[in-house]
Amino acid sequence: MNEDQLYAMRHSLAHIMAQAVQHLWPEAKFGVGPVVENGFYYDIDLGETKISEADFKKIEKEMRTIINKDYTFERSEKGIDEALEWARDAKQPYKVELLNDLKREGTTLASELDAAMMGMELPAGISGAAHDSVKSVVDVSFYTDGDFTDLCRGPHAESTGKVGAFKLTRVAGAYWRGNEKNPQMQRLYGLAFATQEELDNYLELLEEAKKRDHRVLGPQLDIYMISDAVGAGLPLMMPRGETVKDLLIRYMRQEEEKRDYKYVETPVLAHENLYERSGHASYYSDDMYKLKDDEDQVFYLKPMNCPHHHMIYEKLVESYRDLPLALAETGRIYRKELSGTLSGLIRVRGPISQNDSHIYVTPDQLKDEFIRVLELFKEVYDTMGVTDYWYRLSLPDFKKDKYGGDKTVWEQAGESIRQAMREFGAEFVEAEGEAAFYGPKIDVQTRNVLGKEDSIATSQIDILVPHRMDLNYVDAHGDKQKPLIIHRAILGSYERFMGFLLEKTAGWLPFWLAPEQIRILTINDTVMDYVDEINTVLSGVVLMKPLKYNEVRFTTDVRNESLGKKIREATAMKIPVQLIVGPKDKESREVSVRTQSGEEKVALDKLADYLQAL
Ligand SMILES: [Zn+2]
Ligand SMILES: [Zn+2]
Repeated sequence: MNEDQLYAMRHSLAHIMAQAVQHLWPEAKFGVGPVVENGFYYDIDLGETKISEADFKKIEKEMRTIINKDYTFERSEKGIDEALEWARDAKQPYKVELLNDLKREGTTLASELDAAMMGMELPAGISGAAHDSVKSVVDVSFYTDGDFTDLCRGPHAESTGKVGAFKLTRVAGAYWRGNEKNPQMQRLYGLAFATQEELDNYLELLEEAKKRDHRVLGPQLDIYMISDAVGAGLPLMMPRGETVKDLLIRYMRQEEEKRDYKYVETPVLAHENLYERSGHASYYSDDMYKLKDDEDQVFYLKPMNCPHHHMIYEKLVESYRDLPLALAETGRIYRKELSGTLSGLIRVRGPISQNDSHIYVTPDQLKDEFIRVLELFKEVYDTMGVTDYWYRLSLPDFKKDKYGGDKTVWEQAGESIRQAMREFGAEFVEAEGEAAFYGPKIDVQTRNVLGKEDSIATSQIDILVPHRMDLNYVDAHGDKQKPLIIHRAILGSYERFMGFLLEKTAGWLPFWLAPEQIRILTINDTVMDYVDEINTVLSGVVLMKPLKYNEVRFTTDVRNESLGKKIREATAMKIPVQLIVGPKDKESREVSVRTQSGEEKVALDKLADYLQAL
């Protein structure tokens, strides 16, 4: 089955679902019903009637009836006025609105209309003529299967019997055309695959993903919380979460300082002058929180650390002898985000604590410095157990002129990066035409539990900003030159990376990162003095990898509860090492170590070594 056939099947199912809804609720008014990833949806207005999950069975049953009838999808065409008459007769006000727009705008605005309708199917002959500047009245295509006709561009499966396997999954509110001033409709979603087996596999993955969702795991494991009083998109790190974040920060700083990065700290607030100089004020102002003080000075919450670091560059660098210079910061930034886009730790307003660095280089240094960046990526990801990743190198499409500045500099920079990737042996794909405006970039790509490609980090070469902000150095001949800047964040933001790691590990963070690494569980009170001895041993353990001088974090559960209950609770909190201590262990001077991989006896005097090796 190819993608087009699958698309046609999913699309046909949207018709069939609308048809079934119309059979069950004849007053239903329909909006748009596009294909989305792995399935389809349709926006439906049922007035006061609310569809709930309890209705899914009967809708699915009605869909199966239509599928079993094996109606063919018949195409027909009407002139725009005839089409409008059809929509009015059918009491479909949303279709009337779409057709009226079409009639009024003709073909000139078809592409904008397309975007505004979020993937709605425009009637035949429209999107293809999107660049036609002549307003024209067009024919509109319709498809009919059995007793149901819809305004549509196609394509469809041959008949309703040929649509594979499907399942309705959820219903959510959606404003007509995405505008909150418009009526709210109900968006009914379905999944669809070519075979039942593929559908079942995907449903299983969804279940697994739900269990791993960091928005569920995070609060459940006391990592972070969202408070309505504080506001959406402003997660509060709880003690356990802050422990993890701090360990990640210390680890990154350790690795970076080993490689001669210089740590700095810059304020969260900056005067508008800085962002005017950097260009952010004009290009980026919609994404920045703006504040005005009592002296009418305008400040922004910083949306990125770059311009602040560039000020430090100016102070520190005079000549080529001062390069390369790598400035690093755990930079706390804030971004204005719409409430609807916020998600757990992954999409927040702030703080976004970036593992940020700017490496200032001469063009000759770019390749080697970039190899060093790739080495650090590898070192860090190996430590984090992230193995399934690859790079995407984005270069500009030179034919389309979508880049700023001098073409030769771009070409050389792009070539240096490509060479660096090859020499390092990085697995990478090239994506032409996707570079940022200011330089080539690489993204680190991985797949989430559902197999969907996701970026976890990015690194960009900045060619333009040194010009815009007039950053210079003097070369060996005494001439003024512009540096190149490597922007890189290996972990992206710490919060986002924690969300990613929680999902990847299903909450079982690696031993060194677990907020509570060890819990001692007693079988009864006769072992209390032995527990004291174990405490003394654990207090003396200082882990040396991957973060050096990291004391062990442990607690003791001596409550008068059954061992079974204590184990269940410790496991629910995903504590990687549970030390079970009973009278027999005391006698043989051992502990029973329970980890995810099983249970084993370890002698007390070997416990420190055992933990170092985890
Ligand atoms: Zn259709
Ligand atoms: Zn930057």
